[in-house]
Amino acid sequence: MRYAISGASRGIGLEFVRQLLARGDTVEAGARVPAEARQLASLGREAGARLRIHPLDVTNATSVRTFAIIVGEGPVDVLINNAGIGGKWNPLVDTDFDDMSDVMETNAIGPMRLSAAMLPLVLRGGTRKIVHLTSRMASFADNTPAGVYGFAGGAYSYRMSKAALNAGMRTMAVDYREQGLITAVINPGWVQTDLGGKMAPTRVEESVQGMLRVIDDLTLASSGRFMDYLGKELPW
Ligand code: NDP
Repeated sequence: MRYAISGASRGIGLEFVRQLLARGDTVEAGARVPAEARQLASLGREAGARLRIHPLDVTNATSVRTFAIIVGEGPVDVLINNAGIGGKWNPLVDTDFDDMSDVMETNAIGPMRLSAAMLPLVLRGGTRKIVHLTSRMASFADNTPAGVYGFAGGAYSYRMSKAALNAGMRTMAVDYREQGLITAVINPGWVQTDLGGKMAPTRVEESVQGMLRVIDDLTLASSGRFMDYLGKELPW
């Protein structure tokens, strides 16, 4: 199968590439600055033609369009919208609104921009899947003192951006259902990456293994869902 993924330079994106190549898939990997993505490049040396690395900044329309044109020489089975940033987690009164704007642009608008550019290629593919990495922090239901993370409130930009992403995914699920598009938002868990930090309980290998299982199992009947990496449905 042929996968395309954003944010493949490190963290969860890099691990997706590693596991997809290990199981024999082909990957079109987007990295903001390919020259700095050394671990990704070293995977490429082993994978040969099954991994191609392209510049991709999801906040930049030209970059996204160019990626879609290069990758568009053939259909894409699965698009993984993985790129994301955490931004500043300040109290409301100390919000850095330029940072909030960057977070919204990267985490919510960027995935919609990439999905729009890639949709024709995905609809030509065999499996027709677009998945987005979201967060449990997007959940309104979980943003209460009784939420599973044991904390509520805070992280305005991050919560808002992932909630907007979830809304975008649900809308895509409705609008392109008849054309066979299967889409979902997946929470990878709290994962040991630069974004997740060292305190995170979940290893990146475990999170990606789980998400690949969830992605493989997605069908039109389960399209439009908010799930975690173990396949559990999450409350909106
Ligand atoms: P990392 O910070 O480790 O990696 C983020 C990746 O996104 C990097 O490859 C980075 O590229 C890329 N990226 C950032 N901005 C852009 C952009 N504008 N265009 C293209 N690529 C970009 O994060 P994780 O691997 O932990 O996170 C991956 C996804 O999972 C994110 O969407 C995140 O929100 C989500 N997530 C992660 C959790 C965790 O606990 N780790 C929990 C919940 C959700 P570069 O190297 O160039 O900076």
